[in-house]
Amino acid sequence: MSRPILFGGRRGVLRRFLLQTPLMLALQAGAIFGLLVILLTVPIATEGAERASKQFDHNLMELASVIAATIDGDLHATLRLPEQQSGEVHARLQDVLVRFQNAVPAIYNLYTTRPENGRLMMVLDAARSPSLLRPTDPPSVLGEALDFDLANEPGTIPTLMAGHAYVDRGAYDSGGTRRAMRSVSAPIRASDGRVVAFLSMDYEESLYAEEFERRREHTLLVAAAVDAALVLGVVVLVYWLRRSIGRALDDLALESSTDALTRLGNRGSFDIRLGHAVASARERRAPLSLLLLDADRFKEVNDSWGHPVGDAVLTRIADCLRAELRPPRDIFRIGGEEFAVLLPGVVALDAIALYNRLNEAIRRPLVLPSARVELSMSGGIAELDPRGREDAEELLLRADAALYLAKDLGRDNATIAPQAGA
Ligand code: GH3
Ligand code: MG
Ligand code: MG
Repeated sequence: MSRPILFGGRRGVLRRFLLQTPLMLALQAGAIFGLLVILLTVPIATEGAERASKQFDHNLMELASVIAATIDGDLHATLRLPEQQSGEVHARLQDVLVRFQNAVPAIYNLYTTRPENGRLMMVLDAARSPSLLRPTDPPSVLGEALDFDLANEPGTIPTLMAGHAYVDRGAYDSGGTRRAMRSVSAPIRASDGRVVAFLSMDYEESLYAEEFERRREHTLLVAAAVDAALVLGVVVLVYWLRRSIGRALDDLALESSTDALTRLGNRGSFDIRLGHAVASARERRAPLSLLLLDADRFKEVNDSWGHPVGDAVLTRIADCLRAELRPPRDIFRIGGEEFAVLLPGVVALDAIALYNRLNEAIRRPLVLPSARVELSMSGGIAELDPRGREDAEELLLRADAALYLAKDLGRDNATIAPQAGA
């Protein structure tokens, strides 16, 4: 006999557990589905945050351009070093920047520069506070050459000179925390349209970056929750389907193996069970008896009282068998008025005793409104030799022969078949 192997083969233990346990099947389906949903939602959430960040850059460049447009490029070009730092034009232009800086608290550096000999020179500085880029530094002074990022970033000056705004992401330390910032610049034009200077602002991005991060986390959280709900839904659905289908199949199997009138096992299920019982008895070298029962002169019941009464008698016989036998019961209706009882672990002599008990119960008159039926049953018993070579079919033939002998001997009795090969 082939033993169940771990995996592979229809009877593999692991395979059976993984493929046939409803919960495992549901969990597997749920996990695959969940993975798919996560793979889909994470890029969407990430892309959403990325798009929001780009939009933020765009808005900052717009803001810088608006401020730059309020600076009169021609006047700005007239400012000279360093004596005009306290001049009236300087004060007027600087005032514009101060107003913007005061209106938008996130702007912490706001200044203008002018390219001179390939370097950027400081011209105006709103200087509300010491430069946060280098908090220890004093406010920038007119004419100071810039040597921080904006000036050194290759491409910055050409981009601005071409008339485009420019944004650069950076960070600074503030009280021990690293804060994200964006440096934004926009060109300042003279009345003839030439780019003559640049407006730059450092924008405190951290607050907004945190907001982005929160939004991203929120999106991921919502996605995860939806995910979990979907996975749970799929698990429940698969589990429910498996159970419904399993139940339907069980019902079908039961229906096809049950006798409609008596609800006992039918001939088909008897054949299967008999085969199993013989195999199991031989494997365990344990006794097995087969008891066949046939109603005596049953035709006369039908002839005298009618078919419905005959049916009631058959149902009553089934009830008697059920009542007299302890579960688990192996009782079958294998023909019109013929029954079979499988008795694992029971020897022939005990089977005879059981037959007597059953026949006694069945012989009690059945009193119906329209009839009073008295009936006996004949029995044939065959005991399997678990060490012998007899198969299920031969065992059944011996029990059948014993039943015929009981009929021949005048009915209302049972006989035991001689041992196989005897
Ligand atoms: P014996 O003692 O030799 O067994 O005689 P018997 O009359 O019981 O045997 P026989 O085989 O001559 O008749 C069996 C009868 O059982 C014939 C058939 O009409 C009847 N029968 C078979 N199935 C059913 C059923 O489902 N309902 C009813 N009411 N009768 C059935
Ligand atoms: Mg009969
Ligand atoms: Mg019969």
